[in-house]
Formats: sequence, C-alpha cells, structure tokens
Amino acid sequence: FRTMSTAPLDASKLKINKTASPKAKLPNEQLVFGKSFTDHMLTVDWDATTGWGAPEIKPYAGLCLDPSSIVFHYGFELFEGMKAYRDANNKLRMFRPDMNMIRMNKSAERIALPTFDSEELIKLIGKLVELDADFVPQGEGYSLYIRPTLIGTDAGLGIGTPSQAKLFVICSPVGPYYSTGFKAVTLEATNYATRAWPGGCGNRKLGANYAPCVLPQKQAASRGYQQNLWLFGPENYVTEVGSMNLFFAFKDSKTGKKELVTAPLDGTILEGITRDSILALGRERLDSNEWEVNERYLSIDEVAERALKGELLECFGSGTAAVVSPVKTIGWNGKDISVPLLEGKQYGALTKQFQEWISALQYGKEEFKNWSRV
Ligand code: PMP
Repeated sequence: FRTMSTAPLDASKLKINKTASPKAKLPNEQLVFGKSFTDHMLTVDWDATTGWGAPEIKPYAGLCLDPSSIVFHYGFELFEGMKAYRDANNKLRMFRPDMNMIRMNKSAERIALPTFDSEELIKLIGKLVELDADFVPQGEGYSLYIRPTLIGTDAGLGIGTPSQAKLFVICSPVGPYYSTGFKAVTLEATNYATRAWPGGCGNRKLGANYAPCVLPQKQAASRGYQQNLWLFGPENYVTEVGSMNLFFAFKDSKTGKKELVTAPLDGTILEGITRDSILALGRERLDSNEWEVNERYLSIDEVAERALKGELLECFGSGTAAVVSPVKTIGWNGKDISVPLLEGKQYGALTKQFQEWISALQYGKEEFKNWSRV
C-alpha cells in the first residue's frame, strides 16, 4: 500500500543545526545510566504520502505533539538500545549496529510503522555521534548509550495504520553497569505474571512490552530479588530476565560433557544482540570436545534438579547494558537455587570469559567478523 514514489530514508539530505549553548560534560564518576544527554538529537519525520523527510540534527529539546497523537493512546512506539565506544586510538566504534537496525525494522513492521534502509540510519547515527563525540567517555566500561526511537504521530483517536511518524535518536553517556566490578544478581523465577506468549510480540522491542513488567519486578523486589526470571507455560520454561537474555552452563556428571544453553528464538523472547554474539563466540571459540552450545527449551525444574546434583556450573544474563551479568541465586517455589561462583568472586569463569571476549571487540582491541564499526 506504500507506493514506490514515497521518499526513502536518505542520509545525504541531512541538515545540521548546531547548539549555541553546549552543555558541560560530566566527569566519568557522575554518569548515571540514561540521566544526562548529549547536546544534539536526530529527528526524521515520515508521512505516508511523501515518505521520509529530510533528517535533522538539532539541539536536544522537547518534542511538541498533539495530545491526541496515537503514540499516547495506542502504544505506537518502539525503540533500540546500542552503544558507541571510544577505543584506545580515540576512534569511536559501534558494535553490530546492523543488528539493531534489523531488529528496529522488525519492530516497526510489527506495529505498522514505516521501515527504512538500515545503512542510512547507521550513517545518520554516525553523524550524530561524531558531532557529540566529546560526550563519549573514555575508559573500559564507559560508552555512549544510543536510543533510536520511532513513534506514530497521527493526531486523532481513530485506530488504524499510522500515516505519520517520527524517528528520533538521543544519546546518553554511561559508565560501567557495575561500577565496582561484577556484582552477581538474584532472580525470582516468575510464574505469577507472563511477559510474552506465542503469537504475541515479546520478540519485538516495543515500549508496550516493558511497562507491564514493572509491577512484577516490584513484587519480586519486595521478596528480596532484583529481577524477574520470566517463566513460560505449564512446563515453566525459562525465557529471559528483565532486560537480558539468560544463559546456563551445565556439566553432565556422567559424561563430563559441558553445555551452554539459552532459550530458543520462538517469538517469546527478545532477539538479543549480545545473546547472538555469545552464541557465535561460544561456537567458534569454546573447545567443541568439551562444550556443546545449544538453543533449547529448559525448564526451571531442570535447573533446580541439576543444581542439586552439582551439575549447574554458571548462570548469567546478557544485554547491551551490562554485556554479561552473573547470577548467584534464583528463587523458585519458595526455595533458592544457588549458582556457583568462583571462590571469593562475583562471577564464574565462563561468564568472565565472555565479558572479556565481547569487550575486547567493542573497544576495538580485537576484530571479529567486522562486528565493530568505526
Ligand atoms: N531482553 C530484553 C527484554 C531486553 O530489553 C534486552 C535489551 N535490549 C535484551 C533482552 C538484550 O538484548 P541486547 O543484547 O540486544 O541488548
């Protein structure tokens, strides 16, 4: 229904309007995730009859929208989360931005918002990061968090296919997720609320998937657990955590064989880019005589039973914010499953290995499959 004559997203049409009042940069130790933003933002408007308009980079400022805009009433909103890193040579790098763009387009398609040429948006984000380069902090664990967002902006309370949309990108300098090194987290295996279901949209990065998860998280917190581990179905399969995918490592006590497991992409979990990177690195770099790397269904009861047998080696979450996040305890059925950690440490050996492998790629200390883009 969108004719070929509508304009594609085109980075060469970019207009830049620089700020006249640059903000002071915060020292690294004062950076709080998503609290301070850079001087500029990128915006691009879309209209069904004309297509994508000229992209603009302009001073960071509020948006002016009609109160009847569909984003406020029917949840026409999706977003991405990605980062730019400053390498040892002061070059700025993005980690697998093409994957974020693929995922963003899938999210857009799912809620009938316009799709776009991934490479054009990567170029535009590159321009924004370049202009605000002074905000990209230096140091291991420091980065610029990039938040591309797409909303439906039609004014009017009728619900239907959006005919107007706004894409915008804002950036926030951030520090290491755990400022004092890894801190293992506690999860509550949750079957009293469901994050996503087959045929739903839990695999898309829609704002609508996040707000309903805050109340269960408060409930878990009231019992002393930091995050929900979302279970699914009568089998109580483990799916993912608050904003991370989840991995388990086991060692079979009979065969001695080790297994790295995460839930399969069956439509109910977010297609995490860190998850994909861990699977790829695991398959490439772990000794295949020792390890099997599997995407398969895994019930919380299997985790509990194998923990009791001493077969559970490690458990960690994966996501852009923390890379990997070691798990030490999972509350389930009124009991705690304990996850082993290295003696005196907050992590296991494999968790640490993946953290090192991935951050070496993010900070350009090493190259792998062109994942890091200067
Ligand atoms: N699951 C959910 C629900 C998330 O919000 C995120 C963060 N984007 C992830 C998993 C991890 O995805 P990624 O590795 O791409 O950050």
